[in-house]
Amino acid sequence: AVNAGGMDGKGTVNRKKLSSWVGFSNLPNQVHRRSLRRGFQFVAMVVGESGLGKSTLINTLFETKLYQPKVIPLPGQERPKTVDITSISAEIEEGGVRLKLTVVDTPGFGDFVNNEDSWRPIVDNIESRFDHYLEQENRVNRSKLSDNRVHACIYFIQPTGHALKPIDIEFMRRLHTKVNLIPVIAKADTLTEEEVLLFKQRILSDIQHHGIQIFHPPAYDNEDEETVMENEEIISKVPFAVVGSDALVTGADGRKVRGRAYPWGIIEVDNETHCDFVKLRQMLVRTHMEELREHTNDVLYENYRTDKLKSMGVSQDESVFKETNPAVKQAEERAMYDAKLAKIEAEMKMVFQQKVQEKEQKLRQSEEELYARHREMKEALEKQRLELEDKKRRVESGRPLTPEKGSKKRFGLGK
Ligand code: GDP
Repeated sequence: AVNAGGMDGKGTVNRKKLSSWVGFSNLPNQVHRRSLRRGFQFVAMVVGESGLGKSTLINTLFETKLYQPKVIPLPGQERPKTVDITSISAEIEEGGVRLKLTVVDTPGFGDFVNNEDSWRPIVDNIESRFDHYLEQENRVNRSKLSDNRVHACIYFIQPTGHALKPIDIEFMRRLHTKVNLIPVIAKADTLTEEEVLLFKQRILSDIQHHGIQIFHPPAYDNEDEETVMENEEIISKVPFAVVGSDALVTGADGRKVRGRAYPWGIIEVDNETHCDFVKLRQMLVRTHMEELREHTNDVLYENYRTDKLKSMGVSQDESVFKETNPAVKQAEERAMYDAKLAKIEAEMKMVFQQKVQEKEQKLRQSEEELYARHREMKEALEKQRLELEDKKRRVESGRPLTPEKGSKKRFGLGK
C-alpha cells in the first residue's frame, strides 16, 4: 500500500516510475542549481467532498498511481466522524530532477451532517507544519531543513453550476492567509461549456465579494512577452474546470488518449478545448511550482511566524524585525553571498600570484644555471685556447712541445 499516513510527511516514501513527461524537470529553470542537487520537496493538499475526483486528479497530474481506488464504506458500515488527514509521499524523477511529492488528503471534508468546523483540522494541520518548520529554523544546525509546509491547496468545488456553497466560502476565508488556494471546478465534464463559463463568473464574484485571496501567477514587469501571455492565459482560466482520468480511451481518430468515454463522445483530459486540466498542470508543475514554494515561504509562513512571535510576547524590536522581514532577510543573505564571493575571488587571486611567483623563481634559477654552465664552458675553451697558443709558439720557436724532466739529456743540449 502506498498510504504513508501521518501528517508530517515522515511516512514511507515510494519511488515511482513515470510513464511520460510530467513537467517538473523544468524546475531548475525556475530556481537555483543548488536545489537541483538536493532535490525538491513539494506538498500539495487536496480538499473537497468525497467523490469529487481528488485522487483521480492527483494521479492524472503526476501520471503515477499515487492513489489506489478508495474503499467506500457501504451503508451500515462505520464511517469516520471527523475530517481525517493523511499524507502520501512519493519520490519521482524526471530528466535527472528528483521531486519528493507529498499529497495531503483530507477525507471527510464536507461529508457530515454538520460541517460547521470542517475547516478546523485542516487549519491545524497547516499550522502545525509551519510550527515544525519554525522549530527546525530555531535549531543550531539548519543545514538540513525539510520543508513539509503545504505549498498549494487545490480546493474542489462541486459542479453545481450555481454558486459557491457556504462551506466553500467558510473554508476559503479561513485558509486564504495560510495557504496558496487553487480553486478548481471538479468533474467539469458534467457541465456544458456555457454552464462552466457562467459558474466561473459566479465563483469569481463570490471570491471577490468575500475578500478571498486565491493564488495568482504574479505579473513581473521584466518578463518576456511570451511569459506574460502565458500567465494571462492561465489567469483567464481560473477557477480551472478540470476533468480527471487515469484511463486511456480511444479517441475519434483512433489515438489512445487519457479521457472519459461517453455514449456521445470522448472528453480528453489533455485537450485544452475540452477542459482546463492542461492549464492547471502547467501552472502547478511546469511554470509556477517554485513561485508557489516561494510565496509559501516569503509571505504565508512569514506572516504566520510574525503573528506567532507577537502572540508569544516577543516584541518586534529590530532584530526580530530583521529576522522576520523577508526583504531585510533577503538583503542580508545577498550581502553574505557577495562577501563569500569576494573572499573566494581574493583567495583565487592569491593562489594565482603564488603560482606566478614560483614559476618566475624557477625560471630565474634555471637562467642562473645556464649562465654558470656558459661561464664554465667559456673558461674551459679559453684554457684550451691558451694551451693551443702556447703549443703553437713552442712549435714555431723549435722548442720541444712538452718540456719534461731530463729533457736536456734526450735532446743533447747539456753543458
Ligand atoms: P475523491 O473521493 O475525491 O478522491 O474522488 P475519486 O478520485 O475517488 O473519484 C470518485 C469517482 O469519480 C470515481 O468513480 C472517478 O472515476 C470519478 N471521477 C473522477 N474524476 C472525474 C471527472 O473529472 N469527471 C467525472 N465525470 N468523474 C470523475
